[in-house]
Amino acid sequence: MPFTPVHMGPGILIKAVLQSSFSLMVFGWSQIVMDVQPLIVMLTGEGHLHGFSHTYIGATLLAVLAGLSGKFLSELGLKILILSHRENPIVIRWKVVFISALIGTYSHVFLDSMMHSDVMPFYPFLNANVFLSWLTIDQLHKLCLYSGLFGAGLYYGLHWYFMKKPKHKKST
Ligand SMILES: [Zn+2]
Repeated sequence: MPFTPVHMGPGILIKAVLQSSFSLMVFGWSQIVMDVQPLIVMLTGEGHLHGFSHTYIGATLLAVLAGLSGKFLSELGLKILILSHRENPIVIRWKVVFISALIGTYSHVFLDSMMHSDVMPFYPFLNANVFLSWLTIDQLHKLCLYSGLFGAGLYYGLHWYFMKKPKHKKST
C-alpha cells in the first residue's frame, strides 16, 4: 500500500543515532516521492505496481529528486511546525539533505522488497527479488514499529541527558 507510515520507524531510529547529521523531514518526504509511482499505477490500473522506482537505480534518481525538492519543503515544514524560528531559521545542509534522501529511498526499496514479490531491487542486473520473505509482513511491521519507539526514546533520552549533564567547573 503506498504511503504507509511504517517506513518512518527506522528513520526515527537513524535520527536518534545521527542527530543533526540526518533530516527526518527529508527522509519522510523521500518516502512519499518513492510511492508516487505505485499510487499512479493503482489509480490508473496501468503499468508495473512498484516498477523502476523500487529498484536501487530508480531509488538513486528519486533520492536526487527528493533531495532537491525536499530541502525547501522541509525547511518550510519546520517553520510551520514552529521548530524553526524566523530570527534563527533552521537551514538543512545539502550534504545532510542528500544523505537523508538516499537513506530514505534505499531503506524504502529494502523494506518493500521483503514484502512485495514484484519488487526487483537489483534490476536490470538481476531479475529476481533476493530479499523476498526474509521477514514476514507481521515481523516487518513490528520491526519498524519497535525501531521507531526505541528511536524516539533514545532521541529524547539523549537530549534530556545532555541538557541535564552538569558543566565541568574550570580547574584552578
Ligand atoms: Zn513503496
